[in-house]
Amino acid sequence: MLLEPVRCSFCARTEDEVNQMIPGPDVRICDECVRAYSRLVSGRGASSLPKLGLQCSFCSKSQRQVSSLLAESDVCICGDCLALCLQLVG
Ligand SMILES: [Zn+2]
Ligand SMILES: [Zn+2]
Repeated sequence: MLLEPVRCSFCARTEDEVNQMIPGPDVRICDECVRAYSRLVSGRGASSLPKLGLQCSFCSKSQRQVSSLLAESDVCICGDCLALCLQLVG
């Protein structure tokens, strides 16, 4: 069986290309994305979302339940999960 490389669900970088990969239920995010998105959240807040009805791919909270939600193609991460991930990546 061929083993697929583990990729960040947000930027598609593989595990080898990043320092750290934080796994979610069906998704994962790398430390680079965590840092990039954290800056985005603190800078602008959750203003422009592409569509409604999104939910965090990590904690499954809906857009209404969180203060901010960032979407990247098919995956989303909320501000709470970002903060947690940021602690993990240091
Ligand atoms: Zn990434
Ligand atoms: Zn979340």
